[in-house]
Amino acid sequence: MTTLLDELKVLIRLKGPITVERYMELALAHPDYGFYMNRDPFGASGDFTTAPEISQMFGELIGLWAAEVWSNMGSPNPVRLVELGPGRGTLMSDALRAARIVPEFRAALDVWLMETSPTLAAMQHELLLDAGVAIAWAQTLKEVPDGPAIVIGNEFLDALPVRQFVRSNGQWRERVVRLDGEGTLAFDVAPEPEPYIRGAARDGEVLEVNPAGHRFMFELGGRLAKQGGAALLIDYGHAVTGFGDTLQALRAHRFVDPLAMPGESDLTAHVDFAAMARSAAATGAAVYGPIDQGDFLRAIGIDLRTKALAERAGQERAEELQQARNRLVGKGKGEMGALFKAMAVTNRNLPSPPGFHPIPARPG
Ligand code: SAH
Repeated sequence: MTTLLDELKVLIRLKGPITVERYMELALAHPDYGFYMNRDPFGASGDFTTAPEISQMFGELIGLWAAEVWSNMGSPNPVRLVELGPGRGTLMSDALRAARIVPEFRAALDVWLMETSPTLAAMQHELLLDAGVAIAWAQTLKEVPDGPAIVIGNEFLDALPVRQFVRSNGQWRERVVRLDGEGTLAFDVAPEPEPYIRGAARDGEVLEVNPAGHRFMFELGGRLAKQGGAALLIDYGHAVTGFGDTLQALRAHRFVDPLAMPGESDLTAHVDFAAMARSAAATGAAVYGPIDQGDFLRAIGIDLRTKALAERAGQERAEELQQARNRLVGKGKGEMGALFKAMAVTNRNLPSPPGFHPIPARPG
C-alpha cells in the first residue's frame, strides 16, 4: 500500500527538499492521504478534542453571541452565517439550537460551511440534516454570496500551513524537509538566504509566517469592512509575535514527531494573533483582542449557562458540566482557558462585540 510517506520520499528524491509549508499542506490536505481528508479525527477515540466536542455550551454561547451581533448589525435578512473548518459540525448544531430563542435571527440565516474535507463535509451534512435552517458548503470565502456576514472559526487558522525560517550564520534560511542518508525524512535549511526578512535574532531561532492565514485575514477583513458583519476566531496561539518553532503533531491524543507519520497525525502551528490582526486591520476592519478564551466565555455567560443546565440535570451530569466548564475556562495545566485566545474582526460601524472591551479611543 502506498502512503503519503512513500509519495513524499519519491517527490523529494525527484525534486529535492520541500518547504515545511508544502509538507504541512500535503500532510493535512493531500486529496488522497491528507489527515483531514478521509477520517474523523475528533473525540475520545480520535486524535484530538476541540472545545465544541468538550461541551455543548461552547457552541450554544457562540450561537447567542452571533444573535447579538446580528441585532447590533441592524438585523439584516438574509445574513450569512459562515463557519470556517466546522469539523464534525457540532459547534454549528449547538449554535443553531441555542438560536431558537431568537426566532427572527434563525429565520434570517443563510448558513455556509467552509470545509475542504469531503469526509467531514459528509459528517456535517448528516448532523445538520434536521437543523431546520438552509445550509450550503463552500471551499473558499469567495464562494459565499455577497452580503452582511457573521463568521465563526474555531481551530481553523492553526490548520493552515506555515513557513518556517531558521536563523543560521547570521541570515534567515527557509526550513525544509529532505531525506537523510537512511532515506528518512529530516529537517534542514535551504542553502540560499532570505535577505528580505528584516530583524535579527540569535542563530538557531525560528520565525514562523502563515501566508495562507494572512491571505485569509485580508480577504475576511476586506469583506466585513465593505459588506458588513463580524468574525470570531478562536485558536491556540500567542498574542504577541515572537520566535519559536511551534509546529506540532498529535496522534491519539499524544504528541508525536511531526515528520514520523505524515497524513496520520494532526499537524498544527500556534496562531500568531498579532500578525493575523495586522492583516485584518490593514483592510479597514476593526480588530478586538485577542483575549483569553476563559475570559471570553465568562464574559458571554458560561457560568450562568453551566448553572442553568446543572440545575435541570442529575448529579453525575451536573458534575460533568462543571468539569467541562473548568476545562474550557480554567487557566491551569491541561486546561484551555489561557492557551486558547479569542479575537474578533468587525465592520468599523459596529459596536464592540459581546465579550470584548471597546477599543480605546485614540488620544487627541
Ligand atoms: N472547528 C472544528 C474543527 C477544527 S479542525 C472544531 O472545533 O471541532 C480544522 C477544520 O478545518 C477541519 O474541519 C478541517 O477539515 C478544516 N480545514 C482545514 N484547512 C482548511 C481550509 N483551508 N479551508 C477550509 N477548511 C479547512
